Amino acid sequence: MAPPQFAPAAQGVDRQMATPALRVDLAAVAANWRALDRRTGPQVATAATVKAGAYGLGLAPVARTLADAGVRQFFVAIAEEGAQLRDILGPGPEIFVYSGHMAGDGERIAGADLIALINTPEQLARHLQATPQQPFGLQLDTGMNRLGMEPAEWASVAAEALARRPRLIMSHLACADTPDHPANARQLAAFRDMTEGCDVPRSLAATGGVLMDPAYHFDLTRPGVGLYGGAPFTDARPVAHVSIPVIQLRDVAPGESVGYGCTWTAQGPARIATLAAGYADGVFRLIGNRARLYHGATPCPLVGRVSMDLLTADITHLPEPPDSLDLLSVHQGIDAVAEAAETIGYEVLTALGHRYTRSYTGGGA
Ligand SMILES: *Cc1c(COP(=O)(O)O)cnc(C)c1O
Repeated sequence: MAPPQFAPAAQGVDRQMATPALRVDLAAVAANWRALDRRTGPQVATAATVKAGAYGLGLAPVARTLADAGVRQFFVAIAEEGAQLRDILGPGPEIFVYSGHMAGDGERIAGADLIALINTPEQLARHLQATPQQPFGLQLDTGMNRLGMEPAEWASVAAEALARRPRLIMSHLACADTPDHPANARQLAAFRDMTEGCDVPRSLAATGGVLMDPAYHFDLTRPGVGLYGGAPFTDARPVAHVSIPVIQLRDVAPGESVGYGCTWTAQGPARIATLAAGYADGVFRLIGNRARLYHGATPCPLVGRVSMDLLTADITHLPEPPDSLDLLSVHQGIDAVAEAAETIGYEVLTALGHRYTRSYTGGGA
């Protein structure tokens, strides 16, 4: 409401689109895969988990980059994703489906040559009935109680399943982001008990498991989040860069407040930038008044609540009004934003949404 003391930055609107920009560094994805691959022995294959559109970053460019880097096994959540990935990669790479063989998946599994990770005796029966020629894998529950056959179920079908030479036997760790958690050793022991002597390639480790003792590596690891720059792979190169255009500037007087609910009030004269992204773009509402946007290395506190399409940041300390500010950059990664939002880097990535102008750098894609 106070008269602006500098040229209104609505000028900026003419120069740039009013949508946030997501830049994905494909060279960093490839480097992160190689770095994780080096953490395990030469006998251990390093696959890639690319479910949910490569954690929201874009299935096609990410998967092509990983295939170029040497990935021969990919993991997706559902058969639909597997079929998309087959169209992207063509024949050759193995594509495993975590949810296994769901009712109605048969045509897709056979058509796209997918490897269902069979979760239950019912899925095994369905698979052998619907797609008897199609290779499959097996998923065992070792304590997470989410997907996979329990020991008794496994015992009831093991002979029949193993006779058909499955491509992989896998299970999943519930606490691999906490290496000292006692559940890890319990799950390792259970996995060994259920698979010793099976003579089928085995996989237990995702990103967290790769970073743990080699006992967890078995024949194949299947990292996801570490490829995309997130914890627990703290040495990862950042992959996602988000920059948000400033679409208005205003000066506010002491005592004026900003945003819904008037949750932030200027203590002194302040310069506020309004930016074109909000919770509809995966900028969690919880980070209002908590996190920062960055102008290069200079933090600019988010002030007031996050709206659906807009953010407000305090830029009083900047010498020049910026064209844009960064939410994700080398100065603030997905885990820092996740902490402010009381969540995990995985959710920061997968929440980003469809409104971004996306660009890909550094890839052969
Ligand atoms: C998502 C997922 C992974 C990859 O986990 P990250 O923690 O992202 O490395 C591996 N295995 C299963 C079963 C999964 O659901």
